[in-house]
Amino acid sequence: MQLWRKRMANAVRARLQARTVELSAADLPSSAIVFAPHPDDETLGCGGTILRMREQGADVHIVFMTDGSASHRHLMPVEALAAQRKGEALAAAAALGVVEDSVHWLGFRDGELFAHLADAAPRVRSLLAEVQPEAVFIPHRFDPPADHRATAGIVRTVAGQSARMYEYPVWWWHQFPFTLPMHRRADVMQWARASARTLGGLRLAHTFNRRVDVSAVLGRKRRALAQHRSQMAAQSDGWATLESVSGGEWLACFFQPFEWFWQMSEGS
Ligand SMILES: [Zn+2]
Repeated sequence: MQLWRKRMANAVRARLQARTVELSAADLPSSAIVFAPHPDDETLGCGGTILRMREQGADVHIVFMTDGSASHRHLMPVEALAAQRKGEALAAAAALGVVEDSVHWLGFRDGELFAHLADAAPRVRSLLAEVQPEAVFIPHRFDPPADHRATAGIVRTVAGQSARMYEYPVWWWHQFPFTLPMHRRADVMQWARASARTLGGLRLAHTFNRRVDVSAVLGRKRRALAQHRSQMAAQSDGWATLESVSGGEWLACFFQPFEWFWQMSEGS
């Protein structure tokens, strides 16, 4: 990473730290549902926070909205990849301290969640009714992938004001100054749009307002993420991993001392 860009990224993080409120141990919810569009989003976006909540004995559930089968569909049949990712997600959840009974699968096809809003909503409703969580975690409003936006939209609509809602960033980090775009045209466009929206991290006022100190659990977060082997280790030639994104710069964003959230205020 070029030194000047690293300095800018650090300056943005310092700004984030100055304008967000840290959730203390007492502020962390005693029960929560983390809604993950794909297996790995739960660990990337809030793995450290899940570990902190579980350390305090919180009842934490994870809901996987889609099967994650599209990540390498040009290299592996979708059914086989879906089965593999289910096993990986269970291992990652266990590494985060979340038992199998608290892991839920909606099983929609990766990339197609927007086509199934009407089917997904009642299932999200019944999970919320069953668990009655104090807080829910959903993808951040500025996260570009369609399944991320669909997940957030469904949960926001169904949950209403029944629970505290925290939005967590995943692909938001893939922007200037944190990363550089990959050579694919779609990636360059997405990176440019995200970078323009926050003007290189300067326009953060409505992006984050809460943070959780995860510095003590980063090693465990890393081990949990490693369970997502199909995303972390190349299985054949040309197999992209999360580490491939901007030469590891994007992945490094998830191993900083804090995880960042936007908490919607009551009534918004
Ligand atoms: Zn995702």
